[in-house]
Amino acid sequence: MTLIIDGHSFHYEMENLCRIFFPYQKINVTPQPVEDRFLVYAGISQSTNGILVTARLKIDSYHSENSDLLPLHAEESEQERRMAILLFRLLVDYCGFTPKWGILTGVRPVKLLRRFVAEMGEEKGMEYFQTQFLVSPEKAKLSLTTMHNEEKLLALSEPDSFSLYISIPFCPTRCSYCSFVSSTVEKTVKLIPEYLSLLCKEVEYTAKTAAELGLRLISVYVGGGTPTTLTAEQLDVLLGTVNRSFDLSYCREFTVEAGRPDTITPEKLTALKKCGVTRISINPQTLNDEVLHKIGRRHSTEQTLSAFALARELDFRNINMDLIAGLPGDSVPSFCNTLDRVINLEPESITVHTLSLKRSSTIFQDESRPFTNDAEATAEMLDYAGEHLFQNGYAPYYLYRQSRMVGNLENTGWAKPGYESPYNVYIMDETHTILACGAGASSKIKDPLSDRLERIFNFKYPYEYINRYEEMIIRKDQVKTIYDKFRRIPE
Ligand code: SF4
Repeated sequence: MTLIIDGHSFHYEMENLCRIFFPYQKINVTPQPVEDRFLVYAGISQSTNGILVTARLKIDSYHSENSDLLPLHAEESEQERRMAILLFRLLVDYCGFTPKWGILTGVRPVKLLRRFVAEMGEEKGMEYFQTQFLVSPEKAKLSLTTMHNEEKLLALSEPDSFSLYISIPFCPTRCSYCSFVSSTVEKTVKLIPEYLSLLCKEVEYTAKTAAELGLRLISVYVGGGTPTTLTAEQLDVLLGTVNRSFDLSYCREFTVEAGRPDTITPEKLTALKKCGVTRISINPQTLNDEVLHKIGRRHSTEQTLSAFALARELDFRNINMDLIAGLPGDSVPSFCNTLDRVINLEPESITVHTLSLKRSSTIFQDESRPFTNDAEATAEMLDYAGEHLFQNGYAPYYLYRQSRMVGNLENTGWAKPGYESPYNVYIMDETHTILACGAGASSKIKDPLSDRLERIFNFKYPYEYINRYEEMIIRKDQVKTIYDKFRRIPE
């Protein structure tokens, strides 16, 4: 596909729109007229009458065009929005499919809605969200409910509070849809002891920094990868370090994303319990063994059910389960069956993701395993999930989107009242300081009194983290410098 961008700089947005409808097409973006059997044109020109916005689609013998005349004083953001609407409508007509988030391609639709509601009030803000961005009534309602639920958690974040994130970027094997920078244990098992020892040092260093700044820790999240790739003894060492280094008396959540059911053992769960972990994730993704096999997720439904039963036996009373809609080989009935069975287990929260096909995932690269991108079926899965989760007492409390999600859909965290994870809201909302440790982790330092947020990145891969640890720790001294710069933390 060739996308011709003529007379404006909205190439990023227009390319993203095309990608919603043609996720597997290579898109050649150019300002020049070229010959191609698949041409998309997005152009802006100015005359004394106004600003003319034109979108055109030419695919073999198919040809359609839309244009709009805007007043000469139309702002750039308005020109971009109108251009997106024209192009969106052409693509909807051609493909016969209407994406439910309309022209919104950003990661945080709820944040956008919150801005409109703050500026115009709830009714007008909702109307604006739907009419100006073509968001469907269901998605607008989902956003509004999520917005109200996340507000309660955002209110817990105060100027002197922060969260701690710890990264364990190891997994027993790599799932075929994964684009995360995780290292499989087979390849990197030898790095774990050294990684862990430096990680504990970084945790201690972070605790010292937080104490010097007078910050209160309100949530801890250990994610990955798969943290339970570590042995019970290693988990005990890491979580023991967290317990010894920080004052956890204000901490409302201590999550460990156990993740893969095949890594969960009684010894590991006992170590988590002993170290004060309050919330764990056991992630089936699907309870269809054939689909699990297709996505290279080397565990069975049976293992998920046993891990869940074991966690309950060991008195874990706040368990999250992750599912993915749109997996290759899955169908609407199979997804609904998975969801029903998971709801019957009564976990305290269920996170429903939409498959995101990142270029670096093997599923995307492996042409011998073609994957049919069935956006409508995935949308149906999410509709079913929304309806049934609501009926069973779950409410949405955080929502985000990634690029290249099937059907341009969303990931939503659903929880029973009182079981929401504050960290999940903070990481999305970016209104809270998160100090992050480990490879691939990034700290976000939030100015308590303004919207300013600064980031400090750790090295991405475990071997870099190990080899350049000293250099990285010096860089992390910036946490204090940034807070000094903000200089407004109350006593
Ligand atoms: S468990 Fe998660 S992080 Fe690990 S390989 Fe699978 S998808 Fe990637």
